[in-house]
Amino acid sequence: MSRLINGLHHVTALAGGAQKNVDFYAGILGLRLVKKTINFDAPDVYHLYYGDENGNPGSIMTFFPYGQIARGRKGTNQLTYTAFSVPTAALGYWMDRLTAHHIAFDKPQKRFNETFLRFEDHDGLGIELVANDEDTRSGWNNGVIDPALAIKGFHGVTLHETRGEPTLKLLTGLMEHRVVTETEGRYRLQAGDGGPGTYVDMIVTPGNLRGMQGAGTVHHVAFSTDSDETQLEIRERLEEGGMSVTPVADRNYFHSIYFREPGGVLFEVATNPPGFAIDEKPSELGTKLMLPEWYEPRRAAIEAGLERIELKRV
Ligand code: ZN
Repeated sequence: MSRLINGLHHVTALAGGAQKNVDFYAGILGLRLVKKTINFDAPDVYHLYYGDENGNPGSIMTFFPYGQIARGRKGTNQLTYTAFSVPTAALGYWMDRLTAHHIAFDKPQKRFNETFLRFEDHDGLGIELVANDEDTRSGWNNGVIDPALAIKGFHGVTLHETRGEPTLKLLTGLMEHRVVTETEGRYRLQAGDGGPGTYVDMIVTPGNLRGMQGAGTVHHVAFSTDSDETQLEIRERLEEGGMSVTPVADRNYFHSIYFREPGGVLFEVATNPPGFAIDEKPSELGTKLMLPEWYEPRRAAIEAGLERIELKRV
């Protein structure tokens, strides 16, 4: 049987102001802005993609910066933390860097033998940096951060559920994940080859308040599949397993299907091809506002309605 799920593809979240979002992810975290486009379903809102040099699956953090929208609330039945992977030797550097940029963080904590830092972006989105030395990906730096200390891509995500069993069953069954370990109510799963970029952690707290969507919350998490063929295969398998899955949507840089896991978190399965170089040279990724063909006739009006954003090296 062929492998249908490789690990994480991207995480998409809601944000407030676009410039603040760029300042945080391209500036402070030093990710590459690999695509500046619009929300295909709401062309007055940007869709900003950050990642490693090419925006490889497993490194892509994306945002819809809605400007003046209410903040959401962290809680159950939500993806509460997105973790990025950094080298162990970089942890001190990141503490200094966050301090220099007035980003408050919790003191380093340990989980599954890895030390991590936890903090929030300007909208309250939960971010972690997990120190480890098993990540061989090259990552990206913004020209300020030493490449040896830069973020390499995702480490994993944390799902916060009120009931663990149904989600665990979906992930380990239809979605090909394996439980790596479990301690104190936290499960760690991985998919594909395993390791950073493939982890899904799940914590279960039946009594906690449900999360509420708004700025600073994750909208959905996407899992990577190799091709249109493997996507159709997993789609069929999910439907046969009782999930209600959308038809394939063309997102220009990948093709997508969506469904809700039993806890209510929106899951997507996205194809690895065609990738971000489909409409810009690799060296120029993220430098221009890219629109899908059907919006090109409205470019002037769309551009006029969007907040001006610029990359700053910090
Ligand atoms: Zn998506």
